[in-house]
Amino acid sequence: MADGVARWGRRTVLRRAALLGGGAALGVVGTTQTAWIADRRLPLGGGPASATLGSRYQQVGGGVEVVWGVHTGAPLVALTFDDGPQPHWTPMVLDTLAEHRVPATFFLVGERARRHAALVRDRLAGHEVGNHSWAHHDLARMDAHTAYDDLRRSHEAITAATGVAPRLLRPPWGHLGGAVLHAAARLDYRLVLWTLQMVEGEYPHDPAGHARRIVADVRPGTILLGHDVGPERRLVALRGLPDMISGLRARGYTFVTVSDLLRRAAVPGAAR
Ligand SMILES: [Zn+2]
Repeated sequence: MADGVARWGRRTVLRRAALLGGGAALGVVGTTQTAWIADRRLPLGGGPASATLGSRYQQVGGGVEVVWGVHTGAPLVALTFDDGPQPHWTPMVLDTLAEHRVPATFFLVGERARRHAALVRDRLAGHEVGNHSWAHHDLARMDAHTAYDDLRRSHEAITAATGVAPRLLRPPWGHLGGAVLHAAARLDYRLVLWTLQMVEGEYPHDPAGHARRIVADVRPGTILLGHDVGPERRLVALRGLPDMISGLRARGYTFVTVSDLLRRAAVPGAAR
């Protein structure tokens, strides 16, 4: 069987190489863009790409929804922060949101939630929490069992730290394979990506400029990605948060959690 798989894989590689020309033998088309990886075949069953576990009955739940944002005419925006909690910036972000009465959604890293539970305990009323994996490893490189174990461990740590069981999952870097879908379905999660993200690197030392850019780019139903953890350059977005909030409110926007955004958008005419 293994030999058969190897031959099948080699034939496929050769056929693709013939179709795409010499560059494809290296998995590269042109000089900079990788179209697909020709020299690494995927396993026939299991592995990170497969969304199925084999021939036996799968206890996988009904299905999983993947959202980037929502279609709505209502000026609603969901502000999200990934990678926390960490002592450096998370309290500052929570203070700013509390001062301006803005709800947000925090996609927490389970291992950090366990270590820094005191940072978020009793501070998340009005906010929402989601799962952002146990240790920010790449879920898209894991098979379904491993991804499930990672997310289950994180789920339990976040639940213990915050008192709330997350219902949303955002995979690190937005990396998503079939195995992640399978694990998310087993945990009855919704998968949440984003429609717009902070662009801190384009506005060094200019929080007001960065805030203006984001305010201009938001559209109704936007899920906006930010971070309350990371390199110093990300501070420009956090320092501009008050400007961003007031600018979006001046445009008529209301801040909602991700689940609130999805709920309101699902009811025609009730998005406001
Ligand atoms: Zn992340």
